[in-house]
Amino acid sequence: MPPSAISRPVHGQNDFDTIIIGSGVGGLAAAIFLSKAGQKVLVLEQHDVPGG
Ligand SMILES: Cc1cc2nc3c(=O)[nH]c(=O)nc-3n(C[C@H](O)[C@H](O)[C@H](O)COP(=O)(O)OP(=O)(O)OC[C@H]3O[C@@H](n4cnc5c(N)ncnc54)[C@H](O)[C@@H]3O)c2cc1C
Repeated sequence: MPPSAISRPVHGQNDFDTIIIGSGVGGLAAAIFLSKAGQKVLVLEQHDVPGG
């Protein structure tokens, strides 16, 4: 995932169905399944690179 995709500003609290804290393997797996199910998902990561 490019850095710009994880540092994009959040514009409104209703923009996402699910917000996942942490981009480790667990968070990323959940994000993939939820997005494939049609949800709009935001993954927030405290570090500057994803992956846990
Ligand atoms: C030294 C070590 C070696 C390991 N080796 C292996 C191995 O060889 N094979 C294997 O299968 N497993 C290994 N594991 C286990 C594996 O790393 C974990 O099981 C796996 O990473 C857990 O994934 P996770 O998504 O639950 O958490 P993590 O990978 O820990 O991801 C959590 C993410 O959440 C972020 N985060 C936390 N709090 C916040 C917050 N408040 N705001 C924003 N972001 C936040 C963290 O920065 C991190 O990116 C190892 C673990 C360790 C510690």
